[in-house]
Amino acid sequence: MSELGGNLLGVGRRDPSQTPLMQQFREIKSRYPQAIVFFRLGDFYEMFYDDAVEASRLLDLTLTTRDKGRDDAVPMCGVPHHAASGYIAKLTAQGRSVVVCEQVEDPAQAKGLVRRDAVRIVTPGITTDDAVLDPAVACYVAAVAPVGDGFGFAYLDVSTGAFFATQVSSEAELISELVRIAPREVVGPLESKAHGRAALWQRLRTRWSVAWTSVPTHQSPDQELGALATLTSPLSPGIAQAAAMVLAYARSTQLCGDLPVTQLQLVDRKTDVGLDETAVRTLELFETMLARRKEGSLLAVIDRTVTAGGGRVLRHWLARPTADLGELAQRHDAVAWLVTHQATTASAREALAEVYDIERIVTRVCLQQGSAPELVRLRRTLHAAAALTDLLTAHAESPPALLSPGGAAASALMPPALAALGDTLARALQEQAPRQLRDGGTIAAGYDAEVDELRALCTGGSTRLDALEASERARTGIGNLKIGRSRVFGFFIEVSKSQLGKVPSDFVRRQTVAGGERYVTPALAELEDKLQRAEGKLLAREQALFAELTTAVVAVQQPLMMLARWLASVDVLAGFAELARRGRYVRPQLADDARLEIRDGRHPVVEVSPAATAGQFVANDCVLGLASSSDDEAARFLLITGPNMAGKSTYMRQVALIVLLAQIGSFVPASSAHIGVVDRIFTRIGAADDLSRGESTFMVEMRETAAILHGVTERSLVLLDEIGRGTSTYDGLAIAWAVAERLAHRARARTLFATHYHELGQLAAQGAGVRNVSMAVGEQRGELVFLRKVVSGEAARSYGIDVAGRAGVPADVLKRAKAVLARLEATVAGSAGRGSHAQLGLELGPATASSPADRRDVDHGAPTTSAVLVELAGILTDEMTPVQSIAKLHELAGRSRAEVAPRNERRGSSILPFS
Ligand code: ADP
Repeated sequence: MSELGGNLLGVGRRDPSQTPLMQQFREIKSRYPQAIVFFRLGDFYEMFYDDAVEASRLLDLTLTTRDKGRDDAVPMCGVPHHAASGYIAKLTAQGRSVVVCEQVEDPAQAKGLVRRDAVRIVTPGITTDDAVLDPAVACYVAAVAPVGDGFGFAYLDVSTGAFFATQVSSEAELISELVRIAPREVVGPLESKAHGRAALWQRLRTRWSVAWTSVPTHQSPDQELGALATLTSPLSPGIAQAAAMVLAYARSTQLCGDLPVTQLQLVDRKTDVGLDETAVRTLELFETMLARRKEGSLLAVIDRTVTAGGGRVLRHWLARPTADLGELAQRHDAVAWLVTHQATTASAREALAEVYDIERIVTRVCLQQGSAPELVRLRRTLHAAAALTDLLTAHAESPPALLSPGGAAASALMPPALAALGDTLARALQEQAPRQLRDGGTIAAGYDAEVDELRALCTGGSTRLDALEASERARTGIGNLKIGRSRVFGFFIEVSKSQLGKVPSDFVRRQTVAGGERYVTPALAELEDKLQRAEGKLLAREQALFAELTTAVVAVQQPLMMLARWLASVDVLAGFAELARRGRYVRPQLADDARLEIRDGRHPVVEVSPAATAGQFVANDCVLGLASSSDDEAARFLLITGPNMAGKSTYMRQVALIVLLAQIGSFVPASSAHIGVVDRIFTRIGAADDLSRGESTFMVEMRETAAILHGVTERSLVLLDEIGRGTSTYDGLAIAWAVAERLAHRARARTLFATHYHELGQLAAQGAGVRNVSMAVGEQRGELVFLRKVVSGEAARSYGIDVAGRAGVPADVLKRAKAVLARLEATVAGSAGRGSHAQLGLELGPATASSPADRRDVDHGAPTTSAVLVELAGILTDEMTPVQSIAKLHELAGRSRAEVAPRNERRGSSILPFS
């Protein structure tokens, strides 16, 4: 609609788009063309023009106009102010940003139109609204800054001030960051085209359903970041750019007050454990793979935190395991101390249960959105923090560094300024202070003489009102006469219909209501005037005192944030101790070597799921890698065979999860564990078509395999499950073979490789470093029994038919399958003259031992196959007519001659018994 679209018929009436109110709106809107403006009118937020059209669609609201019936009427829709946060959250969830526009002067004081202005902008990744934020999850907005071949990456939780940055060197690493951090919104440079990154940008935008916002490249990053702590070393240009971009963006959304971002933490790539997208998903760290629920994830099992901040820190630690031995030793020392001093830990957890989300409270106070109940919670937290620090400092055996409040300087975490703040808040605030200042009663009695005096006046006023009511009843003889108060008309005397005859002449009628009439008298008006003045003064005084209190909080924001982070980490560590005690976890020994020795390891999630284990989880060892140079025979590569459902993938995952737990600072579910820290964890487990990405199972599988082969180092941990299952048997086996060889002989990473291709068992004979293990099975009354125990050596067979039987496949089909299997095995064994490793007609080349010193690609003899042979083995002669048999024989003979001829030329031998 044209704003100037005058309506000729409307001459003489004001153009609705030209009222002062709409001019005020348009002035504000012109500053925020991209966002939806929530314009405060009385108790509603209204939207106009295109904003109204769009919001009515996105929020399912009725679209109306301001001036019905005119062609140039302004489209509008609105939401009640008390319900606004839900609507705003709906819009931001759909990728839109909202500008919240409030009345910025007191309507009572305003001359003419009340002044309104934008007070904050809510974007998909930036909100400080309690009603919308999940206490246990950080709400990150991230920034990606392409530099050279890599990217600067920064992420900020505006609601808490948590701010991190790092440098990544590839798109895959960038994606890994995005998966772990799960930002709600990503900002990137407008000029990404100029960096030749247009295609990448587009790819990321389509791949990630989060909101993407383009912002200009920051002109002076150092200035933007200048005031932050810990910026001792100069930042790389990428990090500086990303951090400045996201901080500037966040600051631009907060139009009142300053964001309390005081610190930028750098993630050290050298010690950061790489967790790619697949690992995060398949190890079910934060949510289960299929249902995508938190229950059943590792986080759900290990989370024993009792504070919101602790929950967020645990999540962050889990997303960022570390190989920093010093840091891990500190965490493990702390957990060990807490496990030992059980009573203290219990008291500490009780104190922590009284700790509120002060990071978010302080942020809201700094942004002038804080309320009195939040300050009351801040006060309680300070009280609990004091109790906790006393508890830890007073302990006879001083706790290790992470638990000692302030280390050397005992007052570092609870400086006198915080204690003073706690005292002031305790004296100043009413315990049950209301959310809205205007409801009165925020300031406690005895804190301020003026408040006390004004309150006395008000109370006196209401006593006088009661007296007036009584005297008027007596004077008029109207027994049910009552004095009331309405927001619009103020004080009144109400008389019911039946008593109207008794109303004296000095009553002045004000209003007619359903039950009777309302009046005022000069005495009532005088009393009202006095009361109102006292109330107005009282409210103003309370507001002023509240403002003083918030200023006092803002002044100590830095120590408050430090205290908040300390409390959160103590909560995580105490949670680890609780987990260790209840779950019988032990302290892992960490070392800078490539050894892994887990004794009686358990899967942390499966072991607590009685439904999965029938109540009994079977523990297993895992020994991999070199402890020292003298121990060079130790296997680094476990080839795991065994039937479906035997527990292969549970075993592999438990090894990875134990390593991961150790490297976030937790104890581990085992009887003992030596863990040579890993630099990356790779997984390729299970197959699920990623249809949302338009890729087949096999394509996904190969992409993940490629990522592993490119990124793996000697310090990595690799889990591969059923590689090569998505294609034909031969292709699959060939790929599995080559991948296994590469990992075992060249990459030399600690690898767990589960497979159905029993042929791969041959790898163990080819050189050091590969060991065959299998999941033990037994038989009971002719039925397969899973023992869940990892034992040396390959599985004798696949038991596929037995498992099919347990799954309910009909008996006649099973019988037939057994017959076919017997024939296949007989044919192949007879023809190739080999044992069970040649079930599919594979011939394995000479085993060339590979010494650790010789890590060139060695041809270990590619497996060769005969399609004819397998087809022959599968022919069911009983079901063929004589003519069909002759025709088939003719065809196969021809094909086998063609197949054998070139092979004989090449190898000089044939596995075919006929020619
Ligand atoms: P596979 O990968 O060999 O097909 P899984 O690892 O998926 O087998 O295990 C199948 C099921 O067996 C699991 O869901 C779990 O319920 C149970 N299970 C696995 N390992 C154990 C164990 N060590 N102790 C008890 N139950 C187990």
